[in-house]
Amino acid sequence: MSVGNLQDKLGRPVRDLRISVTDRCNFRCVYCMPRQQFGPRHAFLPRRDLLSYEEIARVARAFVELGVTKLRITGGEPLIRHELEHLVANLAALPGVDDLSLTTNASRLTRDKARILKSAGLTRVTISLDALDDRTFMAINDVDFPVSKVLAGLENAEAAGLAPIKVNMVIKRGVNEHSIIPMARFFHGTGHIVRFIEYMDVGHSNGWRLDDVLPATDVVAQINSELPIEPADPNYRGEVAKRWRYQDGGGEIGIISSVTQPFCHECARARLSAKGTLYTCLFATDGHDLRRQIRDARLSDTELRHHVASIWQRRADRYSQIRTEHTVSLPKIEMSYIGG
Ligand code: SAM
Ligand code: SF4
Ligand code: SF4
Repeated sequence: MSVGNLQDKLGRPVRDLRISVTDRCNFRCVYCMPRQQFGPRHAFLPRRDLLSYEEIARVARAFVELGVTKLRITGGEPLIRHELEHLVANLAALPGVDDLSLTTNASRLTRDKARILKSAGLTRVTISLDALDDRTFMAINDVDFPVSKVLAGLENAEAAGLAPIKVNMVIKRGVNEHSIIPMARFFHGTGHIVRFIEYMDVGHSNGWRLDDVLPATDVVAQINSELPIEPADPNYRGEVAKRWRYQDGGGEIGIISSVTQPFCHECARARLSAKGTLYTCLFATDGHDLRRQIRDARLSDTELRHHVASIWQRRADRYSQIRTEHTVSLPKIEMSYIGG
């Protein structure tokens, strides 16, 4: 299987690999790891079940050889895993990777850590922040984590040159929709790109209801009424966030409308869970156990690449489109486990 020719059953290539390095997190965001389900007795993965950094890099190499150019490290909270810079260095060394990023809640993004990650080869970071007032933000993260500390992490990332910084804001109707305009205003003109994300029905624990989703069209209308915006061309085919730019030159925002306007037809993304299970869709329930292939079956690099290619060639996922077409409820897996 040569680079770039690999396609799934719907003609989609593989371009983007999201790597979850842990299923643990120091936050309990209500839409992701609600405290009721992820309490003190929750069984997180034992250390030995996690892929090592070397094992992750082997899987990533197979994907890069099959056409992946974008790698994203996520979780759980990825900065909880020790010396993440070693993984970053391993991944940055793979020829063909042109974008190596990290999604984080920024709680552990100190000045030193940001610098170390940058010098290990990290290109940029995406920081999650759902509101600018502590009351709303703490009600969402559910661990009393203040906004100021996330903003400090963001400044550290900026100072280290991990830019352009994207800021993920998940919108839950009635919870933080009043923060849309303040967030847009705050980051307008800073060069940071806020991405307004529709609350998704990942997993079972967040009690998702369609009524909780504020449609992306409403978000665009709200922002446009205060700070006029116009659509901008995608940076590349299959870009998940729709780009909008401020008409006054104050930069751009992204809108991720996975619920109301699914983009499955262009989805070129694979996900590797912390224990080495490969998922070809965020909503997949059945993954492919690559850890077993690496540790027990001891596949060579070439065999691993062929194995991954054959999984991708059999892929026909389009969960969000099916959900929209039929309003059906399909089985699915938790976001903190598979990696957002
Ligand atoms: N802990 C890191 C963080 O929060 O940035 C990385 C992992 S988190 C699962 C990755 C992204 O998924 C975050 O930006 C988070 O806001 C988003 N996310 C989690 N649950 C979501 C949901 N139900 N709908 C939409 N986005 C969600
Ligand atoms: Fe943790 Fe990120 Fe999920 Fe919040 S969204 S609970 S920070 S993994
Ligand atoms: Fe891709 Fe699955 Fe999301 Fe569709 S539902 S865009 S196939 S991850």
